[in-house]
Amino acid sequence: MNVTRRLSSRFREIRGALADAIDLVYPPVCLACEAIDDVAAVGLCETCRRSLAKIVPPACPRCGEPLRRAPDRTMGKRLRCNACPKGGFAADGAIAALRYVGTAKDLVLGLKFGRDRLLARPLGRLLLERLRAPDVSFRPDVVVPVPLPFGRRFSRGFNQAADVARVVATEFGVPCRTRLVRRRAAPPQSGLSRAARRRNVRGAFSLWPWAKRFLQGRRVLVIDDVLTTGATVDAMCRVLRRARPSAIYVAAVARATAS
Ligand SMILES: [Zn+2]
Ligand SMILES: [Zn+2]
Repeated sequence: MNVTRRLSSRFREIRGALADAIDLVYPPVCLACEAIDDVAAVGLCETCRRSLAKIVPPACPRCGEPLRRAPDRTMGKRLRCNACPKGGFAADGAIAALRYVGTAKDLVLGLKFGRDRLLARPLGRLLLERLRAPDVSFRPDVVVPVPLPFGRRFSRGFNQAADVARVVATEFGVPCRTRLVRRRAAPPQSGLSRAARRRNVRGAFSLWPWAKRFLQGRRVLVIDDVLTTGATVDAMCRVLRRARPSAIYVAAVARATAS
């Protein structure tokens, strides 16, 4: 065993002992309901975990909408479901871990509005669980969160999608790149129709000059906290295409589902 390795194993021991000590003083509580319980790996208690409306296969491989029947693979790339955007989708596929209702919605909003930034961890882990389901075969080379417009990023102090993206990237052992795509402020999307949202976000994204170097020929995983119409992330994917990645997939913690 060389010195570096010995030091790093000693460091791990100390870190482990510290974590145990912290658990003694602050017993792990559920990040959603603060119950002192078996919060297991994701930081949520059993009751909260069970109350999450998880999206389980089959789901539309294009847009992530949960389906009643498995999609017919023979349709290949032309495959779409009733919820798929009519104008096509710039990503090769999309996936979401949870339906955007109940506890899932509370958790996503809790992270978004800064109630608890620690929520990125359980939400990231739930997304990873979905990304590892047998119907998903995508393995990214690089993870890119949907950026916030500069002003909003500045006033909020963090980007919730980037927090989730870091959890995902670390687990896959790939880089998380937050400075490849720039986003300018567009008027808020809420309350707009699907067509109006598309118009609203068109032109909001642009690539930094060095983006191509990190994206060309790579499999890109775009991360967002929540997909509603998908118009924002679609506008971003159209811009990412210009850097010629080999594939683009979108993964969101939650998805507003049609059914
Ligand atoms: Zn709980
Ligand atoms: Zn679909």
